[in-house]
Amino acid sequence: MKKLLNCISVVALLVLTACGGATVITPMSEAVDFTIEGGENRVDVKADGSWKVKECPEWVKTEIQDSVLVITTERNETGAVRTGSIVLAGKGDAQALIKVTQAAKCTHITPGIDNVEFDKEGGTQTVNIDTDGALQVEAPEGFTASYASGVLTINAAANDGQARSGEIRLADGDQSATIAVSQKGNVCPKCNGSGTVKCSKCGGKGYTHKVVYGEYGERYDEYYGCKKCGGYGAKYSDGLLDPYTENGYGKGSGKQTCPDCGGSGK
Ligand SMILES: [Zn+2]
Ligand SMILES: [Zn+2]
Repeated sequence: MKKLLNCISVVALLVLTACGGATVITPMSEAVDFTIEGGENRVDVKADGSWKVKECPEWVKTEIQDSVLVITTERNETGAVRTGSIVLAGKGDAQALIKVTQAAKCTHITPGIDNVEFDKEGGTQTVNIDTDGALQVEAPEGFTASYASGVLTINAAANDGQARSGEIRLADGDQSATIAVSQKGNVCPKCNGSGTVKCSKCGGKGYTHKVVYGEYGERYDEYYGCKKCGGYGAKYSDGLLDPYTENGYGKGSGKQTCPDCGGSGK
């Protein structure tokens, strides 16, 4: 039954379109805009009969899909904004116009992420870029990058040296964007390979210092060995050891294990 209905509707459609051209043609958009990159725009067309594309700029392609006019353009390489009109025609004088405009400049470059990190083994990573430009790409030393069809592909070779970083620059005309890239290396950048960094408590001195004032305003300097980096005890500026400290006073190393590499230096 359903098949039969389908057959009937196909026949009805054929009869309807065969009946002749439209007397009223109404595109749902009177103007369509394309970016410099070009692409596809679809315009619904309401009509009481059949219609066709009568005129079209040579840089515009059209295709009729049922009641939809599919309009496509290639990238605008002319360097200038281009405009034109598509004329749809039905029966007799029945016509409708759709204005087509295409930009000549890149309007935006928007990377999906602004920071890419590689392990020291290197490899390939991609970043989606929202843009209507034909991007020029510059990559810092140690990295290569190329752009095609909305995707930036970044390569990093294996890194046997120190960690490295830089910026990938994307540009077209007066539009630009940057993406930070970094790669781990064989040498820990935090401790420069030594495996240790300055003690965070004493700032590398090995002790902490405190000034106190006595009953008559006299000044005392007190020094405490930094316990975090191996120091102990306390010392006063008059040379006396803290009587409550059994082992006397000793400064710490002023160093602590590098928190980034755990002391390996890599
Ligand atoms: Zn380190
Ligand atoms: Zn310390």
